[in-house]
Amino acid sequence: MDVIVIGGGISGVALAYELAADREVLVLEGERSLAVHTTGRSAATWIGSYGPPIVREFTTASREFLIDPPFDVDGPVAAPMSCLWVGVNGRDDDVRRLADETQAQLVDGAEAERLCPVLRPGEVRIAAWDETALDLDVMGLHHAYTRAFRARGGQVVTSARVASALREGTEWVLTTTDGATYRADVVVNAAGAWGDVVGAMFGAERLRLEPRRRTIFQSPTKASLEGVPFTAGIDDGFYFKAEGASVLCSPQDATLHEPGDPKPDELEIARAIEAVNEVTTLGLRSVSTAWAGLRTFAPDGNPVARWDAKADGYFWYVGQAGYGIQMAPALAQYAAALLHT
Ligand SMILES: Cc1cc2nc3c(=O)[nH]c(=O)nc-3n(C[C@H](O)[C@H](O)[C@H](O)COP(=O)(O)OP(=O)(O)OC[C@H]3O[C@@H](n4cnc5c(N)ncnc54)[C@H](O)[C@@H]3O)c2cc1C
Repeated sequence: MDVIVIGGGISGVALAYELAADREVLVLEGERSLAVHTTGRSAATWIGSYGPPIVREFTTASREFLIDPPFDVDGPVAAPMSCLWVGVNGRDDDVRRLADETQAQLVDGAEAERLCPVLRPGEVRIAAWDETALDLDVMGLHHAYTRAFRARGGQVVTSARVASALREGTEWVLTTTDGATYRADVVVNAAGAWGDVVGAMFGAERLRLEPRRRTIFQSPTKASLEGVPFTAGIDDGFYFKAEGASVLCSPQDATLHEPGDPKPDELEIARAIEAVNEVTTLGLRSVSTAWAGLRTFAPDGNPVARWDAKADGYFWYVGQAGYGIQMAPALAQYAAALLHT
């Protein structure tokens, strides 16, 4: 095998697809099915004005691919959506900065109320309007990537949790918890929140990755959701978007958490409901469903796509934080190019 990719989330399968164009590639996933961790728990948005500058570049460069993927999809994986960043808690300068740095347009309170009809009159003085955003079908995208990877001859093994790694000559020999062994010249660590745990098996640098829990929930509302855009407080206190007759909402929590299966934080949910009800007429009261996932950050907040400085034949592909879906296509192409060097 030329390359083994550890982790079958969106990062792992997108990069595996790119590499399989001219290499023998195997994806090893520890769970019984793919995409059950962070990838399966996202808010499913593409927002070009979201994230630090490097993230915004990869996000922007991914847009065309998501709208018109170069492989078969079962239906569109991206639909038009608009995004409104609202100035709350006196953070109006942050809104101005965002509008300066991105394609989002500065709008006043009256215009913000027109663009987001559920805003409570007089609550918001300034906002930034980004009408280039997209609503994604994450599982559709992940499934299409996996199918296209297999069509290129790529292999996927699930229930294959890598437990140890040994360098024998120019090959890595990986052993999974069930005792199976796999060999490859190059190994890519796309293990998300488990990035440093997996890295330690290879004697690689310790990146000090920070998995941070984010809670997300659905709440029914009697308000009309017609024309309601994805709306986010610029202070990272909440975001919401319409989903059928409900609102998908997050407190935007970012609490440190060990790699694993986080549970939604009830206190954060209560705080988000209060924050949303303060600036809108949505009148949220109850929660129909809630979940949480880990967004994993490198210390500088940027994705890590590079060879390790210590371990031969070992490549990092981690730190996708809260943007791993929206920047997946361009980041995978960038990493694949580096893996050819
Ligand atoms: C609530 C929430 C909302 C979000 N909203 C958005 C959004 O709107 N837009 C966006 O772009 N991003 C969003 N994100 C972020 C996005 O979901 C992540 O950046 C992305 O899913 C990361 O994908 P990944 O493949 O790196 O990680 P994961 O999906 O976690 O995949 C890593 C995989 O590695 C496997 N693994 C770990 N250790 C081993 C091992 N030893 N052996 C084998 N396999 C192993 C795991 O089982 C896992 O399947 C959100 C995240 C959360 C939590």
